[in-house]
Amino acid sequence: YSFCDSDKDQIGDLQGVISQLDYIADLGFNGIWLMPIMPSPSYHKYDVTDYFSIDPVYGSMEDFESLVEECDKRGIKLIIDLVLNHTSAEHPWFAAACDYLEQLGDGEEPNAQDCPYYEYYNFVKGDPGLATWYQAGSSGYYYEGAFSSQMPDVNFESAALKKEFEDIMRFWLDKGAGGFRLDAVKHFYDGMTSKNVEVLSWVNDYVKSIDPDAYMVGECWDGMLTYAQYYTSGIDSFFDFEFADSAGIITRTLTYSGETNNAQAYAKALVRVQNAIREYREDAIDAPFYVNHDLSRAAGFMRYDARKIKMSAALNILMSGSAFVYYGEEIGMTGSGRDENKRAPMYWSSAEGAMTKGPDDMEPQENQFPSLEEQKKDNSSIYNFYKDTILLRNQNPEIARGTVARLEEVTDGDIAAISKTYDGTTIYLLYNLSETEEKQVVLPMEQYGYQEIAGYLSADGGEVTLQDGTITMPSYSVVVLR
Ligand code: CA
Repeated sequence: YSFCDSDKDQIGDLQGVISQLDYIADLGFNGIWLMPIMPSPSYHKYDVTDYFSIDPVYGSMEDFESLVEECDKRGIKLIIDLVLNHTSAEHPWFAAACDYLEQLGDGEEPNAQDCPYYEYYNFVKGDPGLATWYQAGSSGYYYEGAFSSQMPDVNFESAALKKEFEDIMRFWLDKGAGGFRLDAVKHFYDGMTSKNVEVLSWVNDYVKSIDPDAYMVGECWDGMLTYAQYYTSGIDSFFDFEFADSAGIITRTLTYSGETNNAQAYAKALVRVQNAIREYREDAIDAPFYVNHDLSRAAGFMRYDARKIKMSAALNILMSGSAFVYYGEEIGMTGSGRDENKRAPMYWSSAEGAMTKGPDDMEPQENQFPSLEEQKKDNSSIYNFYKDTILLRNQNPEIARGTVARLEEVTDGDIAAISKTYDGTTIYLLYNLSETEEKQVVLPMEQYGYQEIAGYLSADGGEVTLQDGTITMPSYSVVVLR
């Protein structure tokens, strides 16, 4: 909605995304997650009315097919948001179920044979007196809507509903989607992890039976010890909420003081989350991210300190797994408060008509950092730091795929020191997280078996050097040794 507009209505669309694929590929990304693209009455489109179409504001099915084709040409995997937890209250299934319940006679019990859609949702007779239950039209029945009255929760006990969802998943895989981002997975059965895992196992088995290379990432918005358990479903990844947001590990490392928030604590956390998810599945792929469309943007957490924003990118993107970056983070965009503000227009340039209009209820956003167009020209910009960080990740496959271990012997509250081992090769990553101090780290080359600096990042552009096993690192820098 807010990324790029192609037809001058100031609403982002699929052709707009196509027009920016070279930008995305040039930054080094090899995957895109699209927020919901199916028809929906809301701007955010998490309340779907038709699972087999493209919302007309975003374009047509032909546009989607073109997008898939253009992504393929650039080696980009396209995954789409799939909302299984609830439909729109305007979905024909729900409308038919409510109509049916309204015309039931006194003393007549509902019957799925008369109206199959009745069992697609969670209806009860009489008011259960709970905040998330709503009256179904003028009937005596109530339905569950955990997110809102406009988003009735579906009932996964219904085999007919699951068959509908299988048809929907097959449809999009046949259209060329490379997989799905699975919305709100912990709400399928609120608070019941094992039941949610059962649903996800069914989703995983079905999707992988059609496309074994499909990639799926689930949104289980919870602590590490909970989302780790979801890996038993077989779903490739779950978003790593432990490191994200205003009180997550990345923010704490860069803006909180004390031993539990220093560089060593960051290194320990990397190992901790890896062990937590692997306990449930050996080939679990972490999905680190820092912010998303439900969270305030990083620039605010970092009080518009460009150096800290750069380091937050490094602490996110150099993590093992499939790292995600929310559009606009690469230029330090502004956005907090109501959700609409977090979904503000991508700041391409200050030229008239270069941006989308953003959601209707968005408050005016004033970006503190220059537009992309300006930042591209500045070697020391947040944008160029992001690009360098992603390049460093892509040039060293151990960064994304490696098993992390902490170098306990390199102990310093300002230095995070880890190794990453993949396919028989070990590299080392050192992070100098001191806000002010240059640091020297001694890591004997023969003992650790590395030859050179494979690459480094530096928030101020200062050089990282290696001399006889002593690495000199400017404040806020990261080095990869190979
Ligand atoms: Ca448009």
